[in-house]
Amino acid sequence: MSGEHETAYERLKERLATIGDLRSTTSLLFWDQQTYMPTGGVAGRAEQMATLSRLSHEMLTGAETERLLDTAGELDPSSEEGALIRRARRDYERATKLPSSLVAEISRVTAVAEPAWVRAREESDWSLFASHLDKVLYLEREAAEHLGYDDHPYDALLDAYEPGARKARLEPMFEELKRGVVPLIRAVAERTAEHSRDGEDRAAPLHGEFGETEQEKFGRAVISAFGYDWERGRQDRSVHPFCISPGGADDVRITTRFDGGWLAPALFGTMHEAGHALYTQGVDSDYARTPLDGGTSMGVHESQSRLWENLVGRSRPFWSHYYPKLQEVFPEALKGVDSEVFYRAINVLEPSEIRVEADEVTYNLHILLRFELEVALIEGTLSVTDLPAAWNAGMEEYLGVTPKNDASGVLQDIHWADGLFGYFPTYTIGNVLSVQLFDEAVRAHAGIPEQIREGEFSVLLGWLRENVHRHGSRYYPDELIERATGRPLETAPYLSYLNNKFGELYDLG
Ligand code: ZN
Repeated sequence: MSGEHETAYERLKERLATIGDLRSTTSLLFWDQQTYMPTGGVAGRAEQMATLSRLSHEMLTGAETERLLDTAGELDPSSEEGALIRRARRDYERATKLPSSLVAEISRVTAVAEPAWVRAREESDWSLFASHLDKVLYLEREAAEHLGYDDHPYDALLDAYEPGARKARLEPMFEELKRGVVPLIRAVAERTAEHSRDGEDRAAPLHGEFGETEQEKFGRAVISAFGYDWERGRQDRSVHPFCISPGGADDVRITTRFDGGWLAPALFGTMHEAGHALYTQGVDSDYARTPLDGGTSMGVHESQSRLWENLVGRSRPFWSHYYPKLQEVFPEALKGVDSEVFYRAINVLEPSEIRVEADEVTYNLHILLRFELEVALIEGTLSVTDLPAAWNAGMEEYLGVTPKNDASGVLQDIHWADGLFGYFPTYTIGNVLSVQLFDEAVRAHAGIPEQIREGEFSVLLGWLRENVHRHGSRYYPDELIERATGRPLETAPYLSYLNNKFGELYDLG
């Protein structure tokens, strides 16, 4: 870089660092609100967060940002400087393409839509939410037009969460998944029907008395072994578990929710959030306070949480090491439950109404349904009035389940009330990618499954650090996946993982 470009680049970095500080501080306030803030603080906290968001938005969209970006010029994105400028320009363009009046309108409408959704769900009454969703949709379509797209307005929304993802590329992925998992689900359902005639309830061992303190202690031991760094992290309780990093890689916090009568939510929730946290803690420290800090997309983030939760945490090698320890912690509740029975209990495949309770196999059909419906809503081929019927028809077609009411059907997720159209597919991208990355790690280090059997995770974590974590947001998802695995995102490894695992679990031969 020549002198003028270099000065502009340094000044741009300083400006982006300030914007980053404002955003991290906002996330610290959010964390506090979800964990310790007294309920009386809600109104004041909303003002504080709005002020910080406004300041960071103003700095990002200010003329000075554009001037510095232009003067710094475009550099080869394969260099760190070039990648930083590319990310900064992307943020700047997305932020400036949306008129501030539209941004304000979206936050006003969703702020009203969310409590309306809560009430509609409580009363299972679609009519209480429908008109709000109409408004949200109208604004989301407006936003898509301002952001711009080549093929489909949905692409503009999707791109916010998954840079580079396109509807046209997700459709074949979902089609392959559907073709692959629907027969598996049918075959398992037939097996389950045979066994339930004998009165078998595979998931029963997870229900019983599981003290919260013991659950917490066990979860902490597991994620410590994964490599979660407590010097740069902490764990607290909240209603909805999440992972947040108010201080870049050096302050990555997770939250958990405990149920004293059910082991699964905290156990797997802790591993899941720790998976997110390991990604964030592993980002190169040189990227602190730059746009390259933090994960590259929601989908890649979810691949990390799912990898630790499912590929490690729901595997037989993992429990061959940890089950005796778990039994020591809960001798009463797990009396007479051997490790194989426990392994089957944590891997029950059963179509159900609720996405967040879905197993590894049926989960993606929940996402497929939402993807198809939100595309149709955005393009206007499905009306909000017809949405509940379309939802139920899709549930019946894909999962053979008819929701008992709208509360446990079309009203179950908060995403649409919050205007998060385009977010759902990132869950499935994460699932698919988790297997592709895990397979690649095992190809590089064949001893990983054996190490997991010994409660040893450093080689796996080391591979992820080297190939995924340390890069932060330097590469876009497609580039990162290609670099890490030598191939684009592929559905086949994921399908063969599911077929092998559940074929064996359900004796499908
Ligand atoms: Zn997650």
